[in-house]
Amino acid sequence: MTGRTHVVGAGLAGLACALALARAGRPVTLWEAAPRAGGRCRTFHDPVLDRVLDNGPHLVVGANRAVRAHARAIGGRLEPLDAAYPLRHADGTTRTVRPGVRHLAAGGRRDLAPLWRLLRAPPGAVVADCVGAAALARLWEPLCLAVLNTPPAAASARLLGRTAAVLLAGGGYAARPWVAPDGLDAALVAPAVTDLERAGAHVHFGQRITGLATTDGRVTALHARNNTCVSVGRNESVVLALPADAARALWPTVPAFHQRAIVAAHFRDAAGAAAMPPLLGLTGATGQWLFRRGDVVSVVVSAAGADLVAAPAADVAARLWTDAANALGRAATPLPPCRVVKERRATPDQTPAFATTRPGPRTTCANLFLAGDWTATGLPATLDGAVRSGWHAARLVRRNRP
Ligand SMILES: Cc1cc2nc3c(=O)[nH]c(=O)nc-3n(C[C@H](O)[C@H](O)[C@H](O)COP(=O)(O)OP(=O)(O)OC[C@H]3O[C@@H](n4cnc5c(N)ncnc54)[C@H](O)[C@@H]3O)c2cc1C
Repeated sequence: MTGRTHVVGAGLAGLACALALARAGRPVTLWEAAPRAGGRCRTFHDPVLDRVLDNGPHLVVGANRAVRAHARAIGGRLEPLDAAYPLRHADGTTRTVRPGVRHLAAGGRRDLAPLWRLLRAPPGAVVADCVGAAALARLWEPLCLAVLNTPPAAASARLLGRTAAVLLAGGGYAARPWVAPDGLDAALVAPAVTDLERAGAHVHFGQRITGLATTDGRVTALHARNNTCVSVGRNESVVLALPADAARALWPTVPAFHQRAIVAAHFRDAAGAAAMPPLLGLTGATGQWLFRRGDVVSVVVSAAGADLVAAPAADVAARLWTDAANALGRAATPLPPCRVVKERRATPDQTPAFATTRPGPRTTCANLFLAGDWTATGLPATLDGAVRSGWHAARLVRRNRP
């Protein structure tokens, strides 16, 4: 009989893995520590704004085929925006970037030249080693922050080069932004849980797995809180679809990766929202992107510095509203109702060391597999990477002989 798979973690990687197995008729149990699924990609109701917010607005691009296929398969809504990225500078000037090799070549071949240096960079090189100051400011720094959540002085040159090649060479389609108009939960998470339950999977929330027991190169039990022990039979498998630090706590060969923060401030401001496109890039400001959903304007800061992360929420709100107000022609005071979300461990720091030490999905235990945005997908740590890692782990489970 086909053995059960215990998937630990109900973020996008765990959901994608569990769904792939359940659809293939495999028995699945999903263990999630939090009271709900989604992990770093989640939605909540904020009582101050009285709106449903995402922890941070997430952007998907056309090239992210896996996460878009995941949404399609569960009936979740992701919508494409105009293929152009309007950018507004702090001095009020605006320009529009339409990503794609042809466009960039027409707009300034010199900005494109670093792509080849990034692609051919030695494994230890960082983005700033390969890109001159002017091209960095115009194109590569905003791209590096958006894609790798890591500043160019620390980010892996090769990882950015590979990702940029896909985005730019694919033209408008690959770089086209997609958003979740009803929120991340409705697009990527809640319908996945419903589908799993319909397929007969056992889904346990509020169940933190605290340890693994192994014998003769196999996982034989999962330990949960309150001294609960779940035995793992000979024909059963375990997939750890956890953030890297949580996976490391259970399986110590997972490397310790430094993490980077993302800070988002959500403002309920109908007039500001009406004055902007759904997505607006900011240059020369603390915030890098403005997102609009309904009457909420969200300002996002990738690779947020320690000062911003440590600052009181009211100070963060005031600082980021200044950026939004400047860009949208709104008054700096009074501050609209605001919710600040600081995700201190948003993604790994995507350095050369990260890029070269990410582990693959297999472990030294025959029935234990790893998934998560930080595993060796070859992609940045993103939704798309998380989904692909989950699918990959599911394929290995299916091929595995007890
Ligand atoms: C603010 C923010 C903005 C982002 N923006 C973007 C974006 O624009 N585009 C993009 O593609 N990506 C973006 N990302 C990255 C994206 O959210 C992640 O790459 C993705 O969600 C990671 O999914 P995952 O399943 O690998 O991990 P996680 O989402 O971290 O899931 C792991 C799950 O494991 C659970 N867990 C932890 N420990 C245990 C345990 N011991 N037992 C049981 N369960 C446990 C956690 O509660 C969690 O639910 C952003 C992330 C953040 C935080």
